[in-house]
Amino acid sequence: MKKKINQRLMEITILAIVMTTICMTFVYYGIYQNQVKKDLQMMGKTLSSTKSFYQELQNQPSSLKLGINNLRITWIDADGTVLYDNDIDIGDMENHSDRPEVQEALASGEGEIVRNSHTMNQKNFYYALLQSDGTVLRVATGARSILNVFMNSFPMIIMVLFVVVLICTVLAHFLTKQLLLPIKNVVENLDDTTQIPEYKELVPLVHTIRSQHENILMSAKVRQDFTANVSHELKTPLTAISGYAEMIENKMVDENQTIHFSQEIKRNSNRLLVLIDDIIRLSEIDNGESNFVTKEVDLDRIARVCMKELKVQADKRDVTITYHGSKCVLMANPTMMRELIQNLCENAIRYNNSGGYVEVTIKEEQGQGLLIVKDNGIGIPKDQQERVFERFYRVDKSRSKRTGGTGLGLAIVKHIVELHDAKLSLISELGKGTEIRIEF
Ligand code: ADP
Repeated sequence: MKKKINQRLMEITILAIVMTTICMTFVYYGIYQNQVKKDLQMMGKTLSSTKSFYQELQNQPSSLKLGINNLRITWIDADGTVLYDNDIDIGDMENHSDRPEVQEALASGEGEIVRNSHTMNQKNFYYALLQSDGTVLRVATGARSILNVFMNSFPMIIMVLFVVVLICTVLAHFLTKQLLLPIKNVVENLDDTTQIPEYKELVPLVHTIRSQHENILMSAKVRQDFTANVSHELKTPLTAISGYAEMIENKMVDENQTIHFSQEIKRNSNRLLVLIDDIIRLSEIDNGESNFVTKEVDLDRIARVCMKELKVQADKRDVTITYHGSKCVLMANPTMMRELIQNLCENAIRYNNSGGYVEVTIKEEQGQGLLIVKDNGIGIPKDQQERVFERFYRVDKSRSKRTGGTGLGLAIVKHIVELHDAKLSLISELGKGTEIRIEF
């Protein structure tokens, strides 16, 4: 980055110097050219109005020698015949009636032109003035061409360029260092949330990086906690199974107790299986977002199928489950919809009182699918309502375990809801009951 900024600064500097030099050369050459023209005009007019000079010209033009440095004077007759030239022998000179400056002077009194000389280094400036006797007096001078001016100043330009580039290199080094210092500070203090970046343009970027950083740390912690929780949850039934088996092996159990111990081994094994099923399911939903496929499903039809099995569970606990549903078509994953209904209803049955009720409603409201599971069970304390969606979080651990809960049901529900971009809300009052609403 530093190198790139330096390089760019250098490119801009060189470009600026070259452009300025070219522009200045053109501007100054324009001024210089105008000055040459003005001087030439003045000279022409002065000579023309100097009587003695004009008389000299008329009397003995061939012998007149004018020693005016770099000034060529030509006297031309009205028909174009050259009568005098201070530079070239007039015998060698052709008729000048075709020269634009002469034609212009004959027509309008004065004329001027700039012509490139045979060398590229010089330009010739001509000024012609009509005299009262019908002849034309022409003065001319040579001046350096723009190329010549440019070439002459070229070594100077190169020297200036070299010095400026040298100064810029040093300045650019310090400038980029100074420019990049706040960025370096931000990078070094990413973890320090009290540090506000000096450049306000960096604030959103720093926020994003910090929140990503926090998310990474948080999800690492969640995973760590999850692994610890899983090990703990698996250990309890396995320890029980191993203990019972060891007692049977050591013949510490008499015949009457064998059946009871076998039932305990079976109960704990089943618990393990359910737990493992839930763990696998959760990690599938967690990782398998790319395999997540939706199709048009009727939530009402899925719920009606689930109700049959849920009724059996409800009956066992002396809970009444009722269903009010109407056609509710939406784009969703059918397996996940079944899991969603089952998990919510099983909880409503499990955390209920004998004689309690569970009401399941499915309907379409303003084009939106709505699933409501309401019970008049034990309810959830206000301060724990957020936490019940965490993995392995249970309000009453012993009740959950006793009733076959794994502590993962609502975590799975939350994931499914998020995957479907749905909205979940929970209303619950301790001792009165719970209502969970999902809007698709
Ligand atoms: P679990 O397998 O223990 O039921 P969940 O993730 O499904 O795990 O639920 C987490 C906790 O939330 C439960 O242990 C229970 O304490 C509480 N809970 C869930 N649903 C209800 C409900 N309908 N009524 C009261 N408490 C509930």
